[in-house]
Amino acid sequence: MSPRNFFIGGNWKMNGSVAQVKSLVEGLNSINVPAQTEVVVSPPAIYVDRVRNNLKKDIGVAAQNSYVKASGAFTGEISPEQLKDLGIDWVILGHSERREYFAESDKFVGEKTAHALKAGVNVIACIGEKLEEREANITSEVVTRQLKGVADEIKDWTNVVVAYEPVWAIGTGKVATPEQAEEVHVTLRNWLAANVSKEVAENVRIIYGGSVNAKNAAELATKPNIDGFLVGGASLKADDFNIIVQAR
Ligand code: PEP
Repeated sequence: MSPRNFFIGGNWKMNGSVAQVKSLVEGLNSINVPAQTEVVVSPPAIYVDRVRNNLKKDIGVAAQNSYVKASGAFTGEISPEQLKDLGIDWVILGHSERREYFAESDKFVGEKTAHALKAGVNVIACIGEKLEEREANITSEVVTRQLKGVADEIKDWTNVVVAYEPVWAIGTGKVATPEQAEEVHVTLRNWLAANVSKEVAENVRIIYGGSVNAKNAAELATKPNIDGFLVGGASLKADDFNIIVQAR
């Protein structure tokens, strides 16, 4: 029996309005979070405080990004210390959209992870290959290089969830097959066993993201190394998200 609790994250990205956030939170408040399951939703930064104050406490809240300093002249940035101040316990770091549109490097993602953990904020660390990288058969090299960016900066993995999100599956409706996802998760676990420790490899949760929806979640969840999901589009509908939460 795996010691790893099922983890479901909902990444709302830059979506929502005051009215939509209110209605989504109402829907989420009626979800029954099953035993041994952790649920965390990630609203845009501007709504994080509002969501934390109105969402039931058995659902966690994550920011979608945080910086490497506690405070100072860094216009537009948010520190994990500030998240902590609002009662926000999680942050998503290294999402492919941030790597692609904001040029975040493996090293910077690692540094942000280290700083967030030091501030007491848990991290969903995202990695994943692009379509051309998969087609060039370099998926393993890409995802282990990205994972190394994190491993180089941290020692304690207790409060880290790794999200494997193939870029070609994000927002495209093209989900990885359970076998494709499982294969990469095993690669990641083997890399952790060889380069960090067997204990971390066994205990760290590796979740899958990329077009997970109410129809495909249950089959993906049957794989022994898929410990949950990071859900984009389908996390904006409480009913669909609820089905994914109940997937295992
Ligand atoms: C994501 O952005 O993390 C994601 C997985 O998106 P989607 O579920 O919409 O593919």
